[in-house]
Amino acid sequence: MMKIKILGSGGWEGIPIPFCNCRVCKVAKKNLKSKDNRTRPEILVETDKGKFLIEISPDIRLQSTRFNLLPIKDFLISHWHFDHMYGFLELHAWSEFIMNGEIKLYCSQKTKEWLDKNFAHIPKEIVILKQFQNFELYDIKITTLPVYHMFSQDRDLEESKLENTFGFLLEKENKKIAYLPDYFEIPQKTMSLIKNSDIVIMDGTYLLEEQFPNKPEQNGLKSDPDHLHGKKILELANSLNAKKIVFHSITHLTEKTHEELQELLPKNMKLSFDGMEIKI
Ligand SMILES: [Zn+2]
Ligand SMILES: [Zn+2]
Repeated sequence: MMKIKILGSGGWEGIPIPFCNCRVCKVAKKNLKSKDNRTRPEILVETDKGKFLIEISPDIRLQSTRFNLLPIKDFLISHWHFDHMYGFLELHAWSEFIMNGEIKLYCSQKTKEWLDKNFAHIPKEIVILKQFQNFELYDIKITTLPVYHMFSQDRDLEESKLENTFGFLLEKENKKIAYLPDYFEIPQKTMSLIKNSDIVIMDGTYLLEEQFPNKPEQNGLKSDPDHLHGKKILELANSLNAKKIVFHSITHLTEKTHEELQELLPKNMKLSFDGMEIKI
């Protein structure tokens, strides 16, 4: 059995955003227990043998107390953006595994370079993963899944050179869960590996949103080239032939609440929320 818990379902800024008065942030501020309260990305994976986390959210302190997280010493990191690994600074403040030099981070060479640059002072063991590398953690077979995410750096790269962002395929007892972090395009080989998964947890940042609403903080940008937008996300989700789709990294920019967005989705597609549990 694999147990997954989405501890952080929000995009890079989380919800509510400080000083934002959009309807989603208003709902989130009014009711701290609403599904519109979203911390930054964090996913707990658990088997009988142990547990590990995917990502190190800047909100990991909050998530650790809310979901009784400790003790965890293994972390898979998809990429080096702020919302996916800068909680390492938080963790440093109280993780006994860091203090004892036992923390293990699994990531690409590119992500390792950023970890080394920004967190040189924090003791850690880094396991460098290559494209489509297999390894095992607590009885789960894990395969790295390169994706195109950082538009300015990745767009002209051949698939075989992608190293900025890795998703992860988790397999145990004939069950298959794919985690696709942020992306703007999925390479062919990654597509072929995640087809027919039981569950795909995938980037839904701009779900049902073709263009940003006009907000001052967007500096006139109409869309974000690092991510898929609107219909293209649903087209991709439909093409995967998965039993169930779970969208993560939800932004307030859609100006739709959790319930409103969920109602617009097909039955086999669910919007994640902080605390969502999936057993398989
Ligand atoms: Zn807002
Ligand atoms: Zn990112």
